[in-house]
Amino acid sequence: MKRLSKQFTFVIIPEANQSVRRIRLRGYLLILVPSVIALISICAALFVILFSNSASVIAKLEGRLDASASGYEQSLQGKNDRIATLEADLSALTAQAEQIETKMVEISQLEKQLQEIAGIQATDVTISSAESVPLGEGGQGGEEIDLPATTEEASLPADTKQQFDQLSAQIDELKPSLESTKAAILKYKQILDITPSIWPADNRKITSTFGIRRDPISGRSALHSGLDIGGNRGDPIYAAADGVVTLSERTYPQGNNIMIDHGRGIETRYLHLNERLANVGDKVKKGQLIGELGNTGRSTGPHLHYEVIVNGNHVDPMPYIREDREERES
Ligand SMILES: [Zn+2]
Repeated sequence: MKRLSKQFTFVIIPEANQSVRRIRLRGYLLILVPSVIALISICAALFVILFSNSASVIAKLEGRLDASASGYEQSLQGKNDRIATLEADLSALTAQAEQIETKMVEISQLEKQLQEIAGIQATDVTISSAESVPLGEGGQGGEEIDLPATTEEASLPADTKQQFDQLSAQIDELKPSLESTKAAILKYKQILDITPSIWPADNRKITSTFGIRRDPISGRSALHSGLDIGGNRGDPIYAAADGVVTLSERTYPQGNNIMIDHGRGIETRYLHLNERLANVGDKVKKGQLIGELGNTGRSTGPHLHYEVIVNGNHVDPMPYIREDREERES
């Protein structure tokens, strides 16, 4: 320790013509000064190393950030494109929903018309006796379908969802209604098939109507139990409705005659035939040929005496005749 407190003298000898210089230093300075220099150097070196490391880390992070930003940008663009596509799809769906709604309204109107047809005509075929031809289920009230109120402000997805929800509800309502209409129309068709609604002959010339008249042979007033339709011997005579032949015989005063039972208490009878072309037990269809017009039995000339019998009572056939045989077949 004594050495550190000693003084050291350094002698600097310059060129020959200049004076010598002396520098005196304490011993501890010889250790302190180099130590401080070394410490500063180490700190500087550490700083340089740390700084260069940080710079490299920052550069890497910046690189990653750039890549991420670019990735996000691409992803965002992709999502924007996807949203545009979805919006276009949604627009198309909305337009489609509107078209379907229009069609639903049309279907509903059509159903209403069918119900009206079935309802009105089913009433028509029960002319003389409502009891003998019960209708069962008839037409029902049509559907009222409101178009949804669309506003520009409303959001497209909510609009579209609402439209499809309404469509779904309308379809749910329409289905049982259509089933009911179908059942009513089938019922109507069945009733029509067994209702004597067609002309039994091709000729439309009525030579005598149903009701009280002066008998053409006896001259006395009597009930004419049918409709006399003129024509030529051999003209075709048709079944006025589906049914089963219950009489096919030659008697007086009826001559050659056929009777058909159509069910529900309704029968038809065809008199004065030239030929009978159906036998007892035959199942005949509406419009089927069953005989030829003639002049057999108590008759003043070729004609068909056509009777409609409801629950055993003769009724006027005219109100039953609704259509031509040809029209039914076409
Ligand atoms: Zn007659």
